Amino acid sequence: MKVPWRMVSSWYCSACGKCCKEYKVRLSFYEYLKLKHTGFVEEKVGRYYIKKIKNTCPFQIGNLCSLQGKTKPLACKLYPFVVLKRGDEKALYEYNNEEFYVYVEVGCPNLKLGRSNKKIESLVKEAVQLFLGKRDTNLITCSRFSPTPHQSPLLAYSTFPQKSTL
Ligand code: SF4
Ligand code: SF4
Repeated sequence: MKVPWRMVSSWYCSACGKCCKEYKVRLSFYEYLKLKHTGFVEEKVGRYYIKKIKNTCPFQIGNLCSLQGKTKPLACKLYPFVVLKRGDEKALYEYNNEEFYVYVEVGCPNLKLGRSNKKIESLVKEAVQLFLGKRDTNLITCSRFSPTPHQSPLLAYSTFPQKSTL
């Protein structure tokens, strides 16, 4: 279930890894092509996804994501935020005179409903910038911690199913 961002009073990511187990991540065609060689992505009726393996995302190591920076899918960088071009008034967010409708998935355990504030607005701004491709890396939205900080994210999944040492 999603609620408009104005109904959220606080959220943070504790890198618990719950969302990577619960959701099947949808990819753009370009993201699908970038990850196709891993064998962990699939096409179904013209839509592209990360496969679920043993009830989780195969790029998850421990609780953390082995894809960061440019390789991490947009949906994952945005989670729990969802940016749409249509929606209702409470979800409206204007950025550079353009209208976006931002919702928040309520499945994250660190989300509190209530009146929104400046902190939530800064998260919404980052989500819209990510959506527009104005930034590659999420700074405050969903976990940006790598399971192996000194290892290239692209090497990290080739070692799957290695256990996280964190
Ligand atoms: S966004 Fe929420 S559910 Fe996902 S890893 Fe962070 S705290 Fe966990
Ligand atoms: S790609 Fe990373 S953030 Fe996205 S579901 Fe998989 S492990 Fe989680």
